[in-house]
Amino acid sequence: MKDETKCLHSGYHPKNSEPRVVPIVQSTTFVYDSTEDVAAVFDDPTKGLIYSRFANPTVMAVEDKINELEGGIGAMCTTSGQAASLLSVLNICQAGDSFISTSKIYGGTINLFAFTLKKLGIECIFVNPEASDEEINAAFKPNTKLVFGETIANPALDVFDIERFAGIAHAHKVPLIIDNTFATPILCKPFEFGADIVIHSTTKYMDGHAVQGGGVIVDSGKFDWEASGKFPELTEPDESYHGIIYTKSYGKAAYILKARMQLMRDFGAYPAANSAFLLNLGLETLAVRMQRYCENALTVAKYLQSSDKIESVSYPGLESDPNHALAKKYLKGSSGVISLVIKGGRSNATKFMDSLKLASNEVHVADIRTCVLHPASETHRQLTDEQLVAAGINGGMVRLSVGLENVEDIIADLESALSALD
Ligand SMILES: *Cc1c(COP(=O)(O)O)cnc(C)c1O
Repeated sequence: MKDETKCLHSGYHPKNSEPRVVPIVQSTTFVYDSTEDVAAVFDDPTKGLIYSRFANPTVMAVEDKINELEGGIGAMCTTSGQAASLLSVLNICQAGDSFISTSKIYGGTINLFAFTLKKLGIECIFVNPEASDEEINAAFKPNTKLVFGETIANPALDVFDIERFAGIAHAHKVPLIIDNTFATPILCKPFEFGADIVIHSTTKYMDGHAVQGGGVIVDSGKFDWEASGKFPELTEPDESYHGIIYTKSYGKAAYILKARMQLMRDFGAYPAANSAFLLNLGLETLAVRMQRYCENALTVAKYLQSSDKIESVSYPGLESDPNHALAKKYLKGSSGVISLVIKGGRSNATKFMDSLKLASNEVHVADIRTCVLHPASETHRQLTDEQLVAAGINGGMVRLSVGLENVEDIIADLESALSALD
């Protein structure tokens, strides 16, 4: 099936007389005929449902849909994109380990990696995505367990060279994890370029309607944990789960099943069935929406480039953009997000934003409605000036998330706000 069809049909296949739409299973628990039956499910949780802290039929239908869109072996939803990033790392890193991340990633992920994981004894080594292979190789330590990057960096909009980083990670026998939030599997399928694990904030385009927060981890099933020899948590008995060896019991699905059986069991960051139902409605139209976001944003980006009130426009879909070559290689479209730098710095940027009438000033991106955000004062407020520069952020930068309104109305709104600047 092609993506448009998967968006509508994957994950839920009703049988004779069953509901057409995936039902909301609003039950935290599941009934069995005997204690022995329950014990058998505890021995192998892939055999049945136990408790909605880590598995629920409505959520699982959505997991299967996203998994099929990404082309993976299994997926697990989480209550937020942050939880997906956290669990994707914790699943293979523990106190005393390190990992490598590109510096051009979402601000919330920088906080998580640089500060909170550090408190847990896990060191994140940030590298510039434009550094040479030699410089990146030099950042690896014997305890380095993974490499992390973002397909289209929020908000710098650099396109990540997935194939190059996959090659580097694999040469060091560690997996590459990609945050594919802005691209979605409609615009980029990172597994096709060698990524091993994909995560998303489903709060963004996948939901699209700003009605529920969530995240997901998808496993390609391609990384060979046994051959690597660096991941005893996957290849040696798990004491917390009656000595199970994930790679022996679950083969290629070891990573994603460990994430559910161990981490989700212990942390319980699993979405409610109702949230998964809403996410599914967003996913049903994801393919058609992504196409229109990309068309609208390209038109808007070209308009903004022609304005003398604007210092620069970053949109990988523009031929003049430094990321255009990478965008052509990795993306089927550059999403609806544009970063622009208004002349006159921070004060003009906020004046411009406050003058918009159609576009909402809100802490969100990838919404169905056009919205704007000032990264330096909002999402990236906790970063130091140095981290702001490393993340590609400037005081005059506005992140514009182009929605699905008629593009002429979007441009008219931008034009009137720009005309308010001197
Ligand atoms: C928003 C976002 C996140 C965090 O997701 P939440 O659902 O807000 O927790 C992670 N990565 C990217 C690229 C994001 O845009």
